[in-house]
Amino acid sequence: MSVFEHPSYDNHEKILFATDKVTGLQAIIGVHTTVSGPACGGCRMWSYPSSAEALEDVLRLSQGMSYKNIMADLPIGGGKSVIMKPEGEFNRQDLFEAFGRAVESLGGQYITAEDVGVSPDDMMAVRQSTKHVVGLPEGKAASGDPSPITAEGVFRGMKVCIERGLGKTDLSGVRVAIQGAAGHVGAYLSGHLAEAGAELIITDINEAGLKDLEAKYGAKVVGLDEIYDQDVDVFAPCALGAIVNPDTIDRIKAKIIAGAANNQLATRDMGAEIQKRGKIYAPDYVLNAGGIINVMGEIQGDFDPAWVQGKLVGLENTLGEILDQSENEGRPSNIIADEIARARIEEKRATKTMEPA
Ligand code: NAD
Repeated sequence: MSVFEHPSYDNHEKILFATDKVTGLQAIIGVHTTVSGPACGGCRMWSYPSSAEALEDVLRLSQGMSYKNIMADLPIGGGKSVIMKPEGEFNRQDLFEAFGRAVESLGGQYITAEDVGVSPDDMMAVRQSTKHVVGLPEGKAASGDPSPITAEGVFRGMKVCIERGLGKTDLSGVRVAIQGAAGHVGAYLSGHLAEAGAELIITDINEAGLKDLEAKYGAKVVGLDEIYDQDVDVFAPCALGAIVNPDTIDRIKAKIIAGAANNQLATRDMGAEIQKRGKIYAPDYVLNAGGIINVMGEIQGDFDPAWVQGKLVGLENTLGEILDQSENEGRPSNIIADEIARARIEEKRATKTMEPA
């Protein structure tokens, strides 16, 4: 398997392959950039069919964290880690302690947190081996569940899109379809939208959660596949990635696509397809940065809600600038966001290279 020639390698500063025979640990840590500060991004545990797929995942995810963190103007770089879930029985505590030793070996260049398949308790096990871990369930500076702040960022960004796309500054009567409405982010987002007077059309595989939202907010529940066909103003993907794809793009009636899910576009060229159809797309890693902004409060060690709120205003402004540029230049918003992120990283790299030793 090639690494330096890998299509997703993208000049990663460092990649650590870590194994521990005793616990069965097989992990890869990708450090994409440390130009703004230590690389920060979660740890995902998944039953990868092969190490090649684990590598592909970590490379794409850590690059994505660099883009997300630099667009939110946070003093951290981008990184991510994956653990290949051991087959059969394994001791979770020991596995995550071993993973913590791998994180520790990077001497603070990478800070981990939880991601898919990993819990705050697993991070407590990691904490036994390293202090370079956030997203802890307890402690003086613990930032807690990031979902409410992620949802607030999505809500604020959605309003920016609605103003541009629908010419409305209030949300009364605006129809929003939420995929994954009963999830952590989806449920908080539903609350914000309902409070602002929006009409909700929701779906999820969690039926109890849907019933709750139906009762609370008068939301209309539709089937999992029906969500794409709804006659709405905004489509908010808050569950899965790759949901804007050749099969769904012409089913989505909404003028605006803005949600929390990571990697919403199946391929980069979907951005152009969205634009061709006269729709607005809020680049996912710009819109859903509330979570990492919240975690940043924990990294800084002095969690300050006012600082978090200021960063959410920054998120709105950045999104507005991207959408303006997209409209003025007639180019897709996802491409513009990627260009800005890469330019900011290159600028930091150049400044760092020029700094005297
Ligand atoms: P979650 O697991 O709590 O919620 C996801 C919801 O989607 C669940 O209720 C689940 O039942 C539902 N779902 C799963 N498959 C579905 C399907 N086929 N159709 C409809 N619904 C389905 O996750 P979350 O923390 O709310 O995150 C939602 C998305 O936002 C994810 O893509 C995540 O990566 C992204 N995100 C989350 C945060 C955060 O702070 N939690 C931050 C940034 C990005």
